[in-house]
Amino acid sequence: MTDLSPLDADGVSAAVDDALAAFAAATTLDDLKEARLAHTGDKAPVSLANRQIGALEPADKAAAGKNMGMARGRLNKALEARQAELEAERDASVLVEEAVDVTLPVNRAMTGARHPLESLQERMCDTFVAMGWEVAEGPEMEAEWFNFDALNFDPDHPAREMQDTFFIDPPEAGIVLRTHTSPVQVRAALERRDALVNDGRGIYVVCPGKTFRTDALDATHTPVFHQIEGLAVDKGLTMAHLKGTLDAFARSLFGPDAVTRLRPNFFPFTEPSAEMDLRCFVCQGEDTACRTCSGTGWIEWGGCGMTHPNVLIAAGIDPEQYTAFAFGMGVERTLMFRHGVTDMRDMVEGDVRFSQQFGMEV
Ligand SMILES: [Zn+2]
Repeated sequence: MTDLSPLDADGVSAAVDDALAAFAAATTLDDLKEARLAHTGDKAPVSLANRQIGALEPADKAAAGKNMGMARGRLNKALEARQAELEAERDASVLVEEAVDVTLPVNRAMTGARHPLESLQERMCDTFVAMGWEVAEGPEMEAEWFNFDALNFDPDHPAREMQDTFFIDPPEAGIVLRTHTSPVQVRAALERRDALVNDGRGIYVVCPGKTFRTDALDATHTPVFHQIEGLAVDKGLTMAHLKGTLDAFARSLFGPDAVTRLRPNFFPFTEPSAEMDLRCFVCQGEDTACRTCSGTGWIEWGGCGMTHPNVLIAAGIDPEQYTAFAFGMGVERTLMFRHGVTDMRDMVEGDVRFSQQFGMEV
């Protein structure tokens, strides 16, 4: 192919016609870019012709310049026009493709969330962790010894009977589904005994977890429920420390005005033992028609006391040197009166609408 001369008006015009045809044939912006490079790029015939002007005789330069100026003008105008057309087409198709039909039904699939019992249990533990306590866990299938004997239950204590406690077959093996989280206290004390005795590190643990009793599921009972227990072992602990701990715990869950009271009771593993009540946080004891406290002004929350010397002995700790206090409460029960839940079955049936009311904490 011979080089196109800038003086060859017909030849230049034909080259421009070729380019215009290629621009018109481009159906996408990418096609157009390719056509532009082919017909106006460095190696395009029109560009090459343009570059020859400098080498022409002075007398020919004007005519060549005019030829090439017209050619460039036609090329640029055609390019711009086609560019604008193709951009408009692209924009129109994007609008169609990316259109959102706001009348379509939304995706109503529920996202998962933590169960309110789990969230509350963690909140309860957090209170103690903030006070420097440890969280301890133990097995749900437990040796009868840890569940009863180590906790000072008599061999013939009624709680050991099969109508109250799930025994793993064969029953003679002495394995039960733990009936409370108290066996974790004994395990935690055994594990930390050396640090207590040798290094003087007091034992401060909370033990949250599942517990099991042979109750049928109804509005106020469930065979699987959750407890949280606390155990503190140190030199010189008294019931004043217990009361102070419980008050701090109550304030963290029920606000700065929360108050607890202790009423004498009996448990095998504490002496003295007490029931712990929370002053009604709804009516502050001033509404005899209050539904939260049934008008009594107090809500039964859990049990507590000074750990029985026999329990400390079972954990290898000398009750002459160390004293301990313990407490425990149900997580379900706490959730019920803290949030006005009236039926325990709502907590176990797994309906996400129940959990949603607690803000779907993830
Ligand atoms: Zn009340």
